[in-house]
This record gives sequence, structure tokens and C-alpha cells, in this order.
Amino acid sequence: MTDDARRSSQEDAINRIRQHHREVNVDALCDAIISGDRKSLSEAITICESTNPRDATLASQILLKCLPHSGKSVRVGITGVPGVGKSTFIDSFGTYLISLGKKVAVLAIDPSSEISRGSILGDKTRMERLSMQDMAFIRPSPSANSLGGVARKTRESVILCEAAGFDVILIETVGVGQSETAVHAMTDFFLLLMLAGAGDQLQGIKRGIMEMCDGMLITKSDGDNIKKAMAAKAEYSSALHLFPSRENGWTPQVDVVSSVSETGIDKAWSMITQFVEWQKARGIFDTNRQQQDINWMHQDIRDRLISEFYNSEENKLQISDAEKLVKEGKMTAFDAASRVLSKKL
Ligand code: GDP
Repeated sequence: MTDDARRSSQEDAINRIRQHHREVNVDALCDAIISGDRKSLSEAITICESTNPRDATLASQILLKCLPHSGKSVRVGITGVPGVGKSTFIDSFGTYLISLGKKVAVLAIDPSSEISRGSILGDKTRMERLSMQDMAFIRPSPSANSLGGVARKTRESVILCEAAGFDVILIETVGVGQSETAVHAMTDFFLLLMLAGAGDQLQGIKRGIMEMCDGMLITKSDGDNIKKAMAAKAEYSSALHLFPSRENGWTPQVDVVSSVSETGIDKAWSMITQFVEWQKARGIFDTNRQQQDINWMHQDIRDRLISEFYNSEENKLQISDAEKLVKEGKMTAFDAASRVLSKKL
């Protein structure tokens, strides 16, 4: 599907819901979601993604009803630079999980989706095999005018997918910018995909992202590339050991994978399940999720305070006066900020 076609089909869906949303029966919709109906799940996600304030009440009613049925999945964040093989891996990995009897949802956080006006991640056309499976649900990145907005909508989609009985939620993001932090903060396991021999080994990806990962896979370990992949595995394993040890004591594992020859896919899953079991045995799996929710609550408070503050007409005038004083050198930036805020606090 082209970007235009996708956009117009999303807009059609939103318009349909706008026209009918007063008739949406929250109980019936939630019952259908909980029974695993993917169409109802899609509809609920579209309501949650809507920017129409009238849909906000409906969205919170749906989320509240679904919340007690959520929480039972394993949430996996997947990141890596464009071209590393994320979508090919998710296609193979998701298909493998389905062969184990698991239901798999794929969500995406793509902060560029607002700019490109079409999502480059989590796209059905990029995951051909998986998208044909009844046990899979693939949803492209929501668009929003801020990463905070995209992240919030994705967290809500996680709740809805879990209520619909999905066992594994894969959240994909691009290995550039801040979106990894957001995905890391909403998942149980953070997986970093890396290329072998792509220039200076440790320069391609930011150190902070390597520090965040719970596991790493060297992709495209097939044909002539196997040797290079094995060398990269050894190199990254020792590099990860040099990082300060994790608060939880876990040492991230590194392995090689080929999505094309389908080798190492099962090991990727055992890496994740081992980590989950390891966390559960220490009683930190649930506390980690609780802490994530609390962090998100604070993030939401901050986001809302900031947007309410900057959207107030009165504040806009005061800020513009203060800017003038700073520009003319009549006031320091700090004093100007104090002056604007003193009227509010
Ligand atoms: P993404 O941008 O990270 O989603 O990367 P893609 O999944 O689109 O893959 C980028 C390119 O690498 C495509 O041309 C894929 O066919 C190729 N590719 C992905 N996985 C493998 C693999 O396991 N082996 C080989 N040889 N090529 C792969």
C-alpha cells in the first residue's frame, strides 16, 4: 500500500468512527476485544489514536474496561539502524512464535511518521508472512506531534492488544534519536539488532542504546557473512562486559541470527524467556512494570503541564513580552523565566 493509500484508508476509518462514535457500545466493543476479535481491536486503537477531544472520553472508558484483562504478555522492544533487518527479523521471529502457539502483536514507534506523513515501521507490507497469519496483529506507528504523544498511544495499544489475548507484543523502533528510551521504558526486554562489520564497530549505534539493551543480535549471519557475524558477536560480548554492571545484575547476551536462512531465531526467543524467568525468580518482573507505569504517570503530568502552560493565551502574551526583554538585554533569561512563572505559581 502506498503512503497516500494508507493515509486515506486510516482517514476513512477515523471518519467512520467519528460519524458513528456516539453509537459505539463500549461494553460490546470491549467484550469483542477480550474475545480476541482483531477488527474490534483495530477500531479501539483508532479511537485511542484519534485527536478528536470527543473520542478521548470513549478511549478512556475502553482502556479502563480492558485494563484488568491486560498485563499477561511479554513486551519486547526491538531497535536497530535502518537496514539492519528489523522487519525481516520480526517477520521470521513472529512466524516462529506463532508456530509455538503464541499470538503476536507488532506495534511501532516511529517519531518520523508525522514528518513523512506515513509510517516506515510496523508496516504490513514489510512483514508479508506474518501479516497473513490469523494469530498476528500488525499496527503501524501512530502519528502525533510529539514523541510523548506517540509513546502514550503505543502504551494504550499495548493494553488493548493484551486484553485481546496477544502473548508477545513486539514494539519496533528506529535506532536513531530518543524513541529507544521510550520503547525501553515500556517493555520487559529490549533487543538491539546490529550489523557485523559495518565500519567502526562501536560507532554506529550510540553507547546509551547499548547500555540499555538486555540482549543483542548480530543480523544477516548467513553465507559469506557468517564469519564476520561470529567475530562481531565476540567483539560486542566483550564490549558489553566493559559497561558498568546493570542495576538488576543481568549481563546482556549476544548472539547471531539470520532471518533469511532462519537460524538463531529460536535462540532469540530463549534469550528473552531466560531473562523473563530470571526476573520473575527475583520478583523484579512485576516491580519493573509497576515502576514503568509510575514513571509514565509522571511523564504524562509533565507533558500536560507543559502543554497547558504554553497553550494558554495569557501565558503566550507574557512569554512574548519576556522574550522582548531578554532580546533587548534588559533582563536575564533566568529572571525573565522567573517573572513569567511567578504569576503562575
Ligand atoms: P530494517 O530497515 O531494519 O527493517 O531492515 P529490513 O528488514 O528491511 O532489511 C534490510 C535489507 O536487509 C533487506 O534487503 C533485507 O532483505 C536484508 N536482510 C534482512 N535480514 C537478512 C538476513 O538475515 N540475511 C540477509 N542476507 N539479508 C537480510
